[in-house]
Amino acid sequence: MRKIRLKSGRERSVLRRHPWIFSGSIEEVLGEPGIGETVEIFSHDNTWLARAAYSPNSQIRARIWTWDQDESIDADFFQRRLDRSIRARRHLARSVDVTAYREVHAESDGLPGVILDRYNDVFVLQLLSAGADHWREVIVTLLKQREDWGGIFERSDVDVRQLEGLPSRKGHLAGEIPHEPIIISEYGLQYKVDIHQGQKTGFYLDQRENRHLTRYWIKGGEVLDCFAYTGGFTVSALAAGADNLLSIDTSSSALELASENVLLNDLPLAQCEWIEADVFGELRKLRDLGRTFDAIILDPPRFARRTSHVQRASRGYKDINLLAFKLLRPGGFLFTFSCSGAVDMDLFQKIIASAALDAGVEASVVAWLGQPSDHPVLLSFPEGRYLKGLVCRVAD
Ligand code: SAH
Repeated sequence: MRKIRLKSGRERSVLRRHPWIFSGSIEEVLGEPGIGETVEIFSHDNTWLARAAYSPNSQIRARIWTWDQDESIDADFFQRRLDRSIRARRHLARSVDVTAYREVHAESDGLPGVILDRYNDVFVLQLLSAGADHWREVIVTLLKQREDWGGIFERSDVDVRQLEGLPSRKGHLAGEIPHEPIIISEYGLQYKVDIHQGQKTGFYLDQRENRHLTRYWIKGGEVLDCFAYTGGFTVSALAAGADNLLSIDTSSSALELASENVLLNDLPLAQCEWIEADVFGELRKLRDLGRTFDAIILDPPRFARRTSHVQRASRGYKDINLLAFKLLRPGGFLFTFSCSGAVDMDLFQKIIASAALDAGVEASVVAWLGQPSDHPVLLSFPEGRYLKGLVCRVAD
């Protein structure tokens, strides 16, 4: 039997249904499991606890598939979990307003390492862990058996796979994959999504509800969209009635698509300014130029990949938020986000508070934002909560 026996006391987190087993918790590995193979997890005193995928190269040495001893890990298991995930998205599947969303959100859907995003009828699959990769053929076969798709594409070309000892992989899996960007719909707005070259699986689906919510506060004026990518917030702010948009990103191809997205929605391109630059430097330039804005969006990439990066990340968040507060007009709104799981909401709010203090502005939080329902957080897996945001209003 392929088996992991834990150190004494380390069964506690497994019993609390946390899906990760770190290398430091392991007493011994028996039966020489291969990469991604299924292993039985036992407590130190040899009580069966769970069934997991083995990942010899990762600090997360095993990811649990099931806590039910009668449940074997096979095609039926993946079918059940996929069905369950899709059932949980029924409200989105029925929506005519939203045609792109996440169908499987890894650990929080009971499928560690498996991401499945839907862009209209195109599925984009991303396998992040050894276990997920081991079951790739089975997962793809099950997806092909569904009737609600036109194409299946793989975007397993992400850095985290290196930690699992897996090669980068990307390409056609089934059906028709358009070469041109796919046009999705999000609350009445259209966006072009490049699933071939775009970041993540092509679009930041996790910001869908927050893009929509900003329309509630932005009613006009000048808006600055920092880390704009393909114009998610730029388009929603323009649609909400913003008079002028200044959008910054380091990626010229993203900004190009952003301007196409403005046109796609019949919004006024003449009211948009695009700057291909580093936000840290550009905010300083804008400050030195004396520019001010009625609303600023800060949606940076993940600054902290792990807990040891939190201090450095905090300095980064403080820096851009301090500068943003300085650029806001009285009564202006700051929409500020962090997708670093290691920086929790409490810490994030403290950072923003200290940024406001140092900027010499009085500001209040008017809304706390988070992840949409297709990016759920399993209660036994708080690490699943990564995206957080604050809407702050500067006093006038
Ligand atoms: N707000 C976007 C998603 C932003 S993702 C949306 O709703 O779709 C983060 C973006 O920041 C990426 O497009 C990346 O190219 C960009 N980026 C990363 N570091 C940057 C930097 N230092 N300055 C400017 N842009 C940066």
